[in-house]
Amino acid sequence: MSLQSTVAASDALANRRVIVTGGARGLGADFVEKLAACGAQVVFGDVLHDEGRRLAERLGANVHYAALDLADPASIDAFVQTAAQRLGGIDALINNAAITNSGGRLAGELSLETWDAVMNVNVRGSWRMCVAALPFLCESACGAVVNIASDTALWGAPKLLAYVASKGAVIAMTRSLAREFGAHGITVNAIAPGLTEVEATAYVPAERHAYYQQGRALARAQVPGDVTGPVLFLLSDAARFVTGQVLPVNGGFVMN
Ligand code: NAD
Repeated sequence: MSLQSTVAASDALANRRVIVTGGARGLGADFVEKLAACGAQVVFGDVLHDEGRRLAERLGANVHYAALDLADPASIDAFVQTAAQRLGGIDALINNAAITNSGGRLAGELSLETWDAVMNVNVRGSWRMCVAALPFLCESACGAVVNIASDTALWGAPKLLAYVASKGAVIAMTRSLAREFGAHGITVNAIAPGLTEVEATAYVPAERHAYYQQGRALARAQVPGDVTGPVLFLLSDAARFVTGQVLPVNGGFVMN
């Protein structure tokens, strides 16, 4: 998706106050950049402070970086308070940050520490972000949460158990929170991307990329812009009656 078509498709996001976790690189950085191009006001957080500050500097006055460690509940609360203060409220939360850590190991080879670390960031962190942002989302006329899951949780990727289980939990949490937050007019949806070409997946062997590509109805490599368009849609007024849904974005590798 080009920057131009993003802007044309999403004029409705001008001045939308959006917070993004894990926005310093990868998919999150693409969300931040394209939200900014749509005229949204963005605060994003990450543990990669240099990358985060550099991106915010490059994107200009409507984009701000603040430190955020999802493994630390106090850091989550501080980030949300800082963001709400800077933006004058919060309309939307994109729970994007996650760690994989468990790649390449069989279920029996995973350590308890790895399991707990992955769950703490991916599941507990996303939950605490939702809870911290809720009072601000309640004040918004267009409150929306988009959780970034993974299609690995839909088809059961092997040798990635902690990550896959964490993304399954993110999907279940999305559905439950949609019902709770719906009472306040807030939508909660999840996107389940397929393997996407970013820095973090550069370690994945070429034959694995080829396997995914061949399994897609649209047999090409997946790039961050493929995911950003659907995220922007779920934040837009066009999607105000869409909630509790999980949208696979993977060129048809997995179909609902
Ligand atoms: P990435 O590693 O580039 O991005 C994750 C970001 O989260 C990084 O900037 C990282 O520093 C940040 N982060 C990690 N731990 C954090 C913490 N404790 N607190 C705050 N921030 C933290 O990877 P990505 O591929 O861009 O992934 C983005 C999202 O998309 C993740 O939820 C991932 O699971 C999901 N996803 C990615 C793919 C893919 O193939 N790239 C496929 C499916 C789902």
